[in-house]
Amino acid sequence: MVNNLKSGVFLYEPEPAAGVDINFYRLKSESGIVGKPNPEMYTNIACFGDNFMAAKRPDWVSVSANGPSLRTNKRYNLRWDVVCMTNPEAREYNLKIIAESAKTTPGISISSQHFADQGFCTCPRCIEKQRKSGLSWVDWRAKTVTDFLAEVKEIVPDKPLYVNILPDPLLGRTRFGYDFDAMADYTDYFVIPMFSKAYPTPWYWETIARGFKSVLKKPFFVNFYVRGPNETWDTVAPANQIMTVATRVARQGVDGIIFLAEKAEYIHEFQRRAVADTKTREFLKGHGGDEVLELFNCWEKMQKA
Ligand SMILES: [Zn+2]
Repeated sequence: MVNNLKSGVFLYEPEPAAGVDINFYRLKSESGIVGKPNPEMYTNIACFGDNFMAAKRPDWVSVSANGPSLRTNKRYNLRWDVVCMTNPEAREYNLKIIAESAKTTPGISISSQHFADQGFCTCPRCIEKQRKSGLSWVDWRAKTVTDFLAEVKEIVPDKPLYVNILPDPLLGRTRFGYDFDAMADYTDYFVIPMFSKAYPTPWYWETIARGFKSVLKKPFFVNFYVRGPNETWDTVAPANQIMTVATRVARQGVDGIIFLAEKAEYIHEFQRRAVADTKTREFLKGHGGDEVLELFNCWEKMQKA
């Protein structure tokens, strides 16, 4: 829609929003509940972040010296429960959902296709696999993540594959098993979630974007939080903060910007608010993120049509 910068939305319901290039539907979010693919929308699948399976199959949950990968473990900032990624049943389960989705939808996005965090997973299977590999702990974890990605790419051969990676450009390898260079071989686009309920300090997000720009060998998108499930407009960032952070991050050379909302209706409301905020649009001129301002212009035209 806008020259070089792509735009997208990341939705929890299979109804597309207007005014963006790509609609992602969270067919399987970290809640673990699986919906039905919409052939008009790209499909997002959270792989090993899976609250449902973690509750149903406690024996699948990933473990560490500092406890399990559950939201209740306060030693970590886990936003969802995580099952062990070397569990063959968990792998099969997710690969099947990905393969089915790839048959009917125009693109695939995967999330939480990696280890829970530093120190995971020390289940007997993972310990044994690392020992047999002859690799160091960190190298084995990175290879495990890359190998899973290669398996995904194989079942999504002719559709774009978007790979979400948590926003740590520095220690991603030690924490999650990200080998960015190796992953780039199987990834068409990386996506960096930049979720927050407030964006009063865009400087930090811009720093993260700059870091990723310097290390990733494939195009990357960022994803901003507009209004997720269980929110009201009062519990999330005002439109002007999101408009500002998007413009500031865009000038670091990101290839696309995605907006997360529970449903299309909230995206449309955000678009109305952004268009109406002429003061912020005027202020953001000259920042070097003109493609985002162009996107607001497109939304304005769309609303007038
Ligand atoms: Zn394990």
